[in-house]
Amino acid sequence: MKELKELCRANIWNLSPYSCARTEFSGKKAHNFLDANENPYNDPYNRYPDPFQTDVKKVLSKIKDVPVENIFLGNGSDEAIDLVYRIFCNPGIDNVVAIAPTYGMYQVCADVNDVEYRQVLLDENYQITADKLLSACDDHTKVIWICSPNNPTGNLINPEAIVGVLQRFDGIVVLDEAYSDFSSIQPFRSYLSKFPNMIVLNTMSKAWGCAALRLGMAFASKDIIDLFNKVKYPYNVNLLTQQHALEVLNDPYQVDEWVKNLLQERGKMVTAFTELPICVKVYPTDANFFLAKMTDAQAIYDYLVDKGIIVRNRNRVQLCENCLRITIGKKSENIELLSALRQYQ
Ligand SMILES: *Cc1c(COP(=O)(O)O)cnc(C)c1O
Repeated sequence: MKELKELCRANIWNLSPYSCARTEFSGKKAHNFLDANENPYNDPYNRYPDPFQTDVKKVLSKIKDVPVENIFLGNGSDEAIDLVYRIFCNPGIDNVVAIAPTYGMYQVCADVNDVEYRQVLLDENYQITADKLLSACDDHTKVIWICSPNNPTGNLINPEAIVGVLQRFDGIVVLDEAYSDFSSIQPFRSYLSKFPNMIVLNTMSKAWGCAALRLGMAFASKDIIDLFNKVKYPYNVNLLTQQHALEVLNDPYQVDEWVKNLLQERGKMVTAFTELPICVKVYPTDANFFLAKMTDAQAIYDYLVDKGIIVRNRNRVQLCENCLRITIGKKSENIELLSALRQYQ
């Protein structure tokens, strides 16, 4: 890996971050806060929230088995994705490499930040090799994006390919593990100390059932996390989100139960789809959704919309022609989808 200073944009490396009123005194017991121009009434919403979300990180640290200093929390993973560009990529000069098809926000954030986005197509099994990804890189490639389990394909990317990229690429590798709770393999965040150039993304939006909270995580070396903290908005995670996240995180058995249930439903749905005459193929999945190739995805999508059932039409995505992406719902929702599809003609 190149030196972090060499990978980081010079303006970010040299940035003096905004200093919050509450971080300027430390370790002292205080009770009278006349420092932040807050209104003294309307407790607790009158006070600025903890800019570094320490209580949430302490609980997450235990659940994810990652030290607090290696955790960044943001307004969804989307904030972390955008920060990667703002920290590492000089607009108009640097580029990033990503697998394709994959999660759309990597490209949107590249475009917003005026960073060239290079796509490397997966093969027909939605897999890739380290060689292929690395040969798309040049001296200005700062970041490689890998999503595993991948969205919209649902499959895990071959771990040997990921390790190959981590070991051989001298820039930053972002590994988005938004769906790792649904997968049986060891998540890469367990190997943080092995790979100083790795940033792992997780989210509260999927297995944890908190998409409305907007809470995403990045796990990385302390030096990389310090850069995230320098560039983020000072109060990027609001009080209500921190409070509710703490409640949910303190009940991890609930999540285990949800995941167990969803995996069971996923098994049933995959089998049922395989037997549908209008389903050509169901792709392997390690997520809470699956991709299915249909006889006519657009027509089936329109038919379902008419019945008030919305799935994700991926027909126009390269390598996903005639594919629908189906999220696993509650038992009753899954049954409703299946019986609608059985009546399709
Ligand atoms: C859903 C999803 C996310 C979650 O994004 P949030 O901003 O945390 O809601 C991240 N990455 C991938 C690949 C996803 O599919």
